[in-house]
Amino acid sequence: MSIQKEPLFLEALPVMQQLVDAGYEAYFVGGSVRDMLLHKPISDVDIATSATPQEVKEIFSHTVDVGIEHGTVMVIHHKEGYEVTTFRTEEGYEDFRHPDKVTFVRSLEEDLKRRDFTINALAIGIDDQLIDFFDGIGDLERQCIRCVGDAKERFNEDALRMFRAVRFVGQLGFQIEENTKNAISLLKMNLSKVAVERMKVEFEKMIQSSYRKDALKLFVETGLYQACPLFDGKGEILLKLAEFPIKEMSVLQAWILFVDELKLSDKEVTHLLKSWKSSNEQIRDVLVGYKTYRARKEEEWNFFLAYDCSYEVASEVEQLLIAQNKSTSIKGLEATYQSLPIRSMNDIQLNGHDIIRILKLEKKGPIIGQVLKTVEKMILEQSIENDAEILEAYVLTHFGSGK
Ligand code: ATP
Ligand code: MG
Repeated sequence: MSIQKEPLFLEALPVMQQLVDAGYEAYFVGGSVRDMLLHKPISDVDIATSATPQEVKEIFSHTVDVGIEHGTVMVIHHKEGYEVTTFRTEEGYEDFRHPDKVTFVRSLEEDLKRRDFTINALAIGIDDQLIDFFDGIGDLERQCIRCVGDAKERFNEDALRMFRAVRFVGQLGFQIEENTKNAISLLKMNLSKVAVERMKVEFEKMIQSSYRKDALKLFVETGLYQACPLFDGKGEILLKLAEFPIKEMSVLQAWILFVDELKLSDKEVTHLLKSWKSSNEQIRDVLVGYKTYRARKEEEWNFFLAYDCSYEVASEVEQLLIAQNKSTSIKGLEATYQSLPIRSMNDIQLNGHDIIRILKLEKKGPIIGQVLKTVEKMILEQSIENDAEILEAYVLTHFGSGK
């Protein structure tokens, strides 16, 4: 096992080397070390150092203060940004979420002690020396998620860690160690004190994970779900999401299935997603996906369904139907979208100005909208061609003076 074999580590090595040359300690830490040891692709590297943020800024010519109060400075090297964080400890979690005080320290061990799980508390130096104070390697081999130190204490410091444990089950297929799991069942309700934005990150990672089934079952079994926005009493539905016969599930698919099981109204869907701090874009996609999913269970693809729903959302809906043997392939959907005569009103070969001219209107009025709605519908039902001359003739005869 060598950091030399990982392109992302190799690229960051000169940054580490400069810190070491200046007399400080520097290590790769956290998720990237864990994933390298598991032979999984690594996404981003975190560097921890004994240098204070000020000292880091003195060593490198180009840095950005991204979270200096937490000790993180972004070092720009060859146009890439690397997050360099000073070794630190955290104290006084009065409200189950925020450390009252972050203290910079010179000891790597102190820094690793405040991390959540043993498998996330590993560090590796520039000469490949692996630092493992809490038997994280043993837990990787045993496929075990275990808190660093006392689980109850650690979850009392930051309740999100309970959700992270369950999310890592989903991503790694590991088991949660007994004491750690019992502490989750005991302290689950503290999760409700955590910012919803942080829960959302974990929920979405869990939904998309390879071992979604195991993670969701634990999410329900430990009762953790009860502390999430509007999930109380929805355990059965979350278990259905666990068992849904699709290998990888997207967040959009999960929400569509969830709200469909509950038969929520659009207003209720919006309320649910707002309570999860979803973006307006996500809410819009879920609403249209939900509507399309319900319709598609009753009818084949047609221009009206396709016109209201983007291709991306439609194909996620179709995958849900395929998974339930309610559709055999994506082909019907593709064919419909390919021959769709218009994708929006902008594609109609007639605009507001044309209508004013054709009907000799003196000013804009509601008639313009009525005409456009009428021809839009006719084009979609293929009773008229989307051709400027044909549309003009139609508008003149059906909406012209005296009509
Ligand atoms: P991912 O693959 O999802 O990025 P990760 O383990 O890298 O997983 P991050 O959220 O990127 O997770 O955090 C980086 C590291 O910071 C973790 O590996 C862990 O050591 C530490 N960490 C993150 N969140 C917490 C937390 N809530 N409590 C304690 N340590 C944490
Ligand atoms: Mg990470």
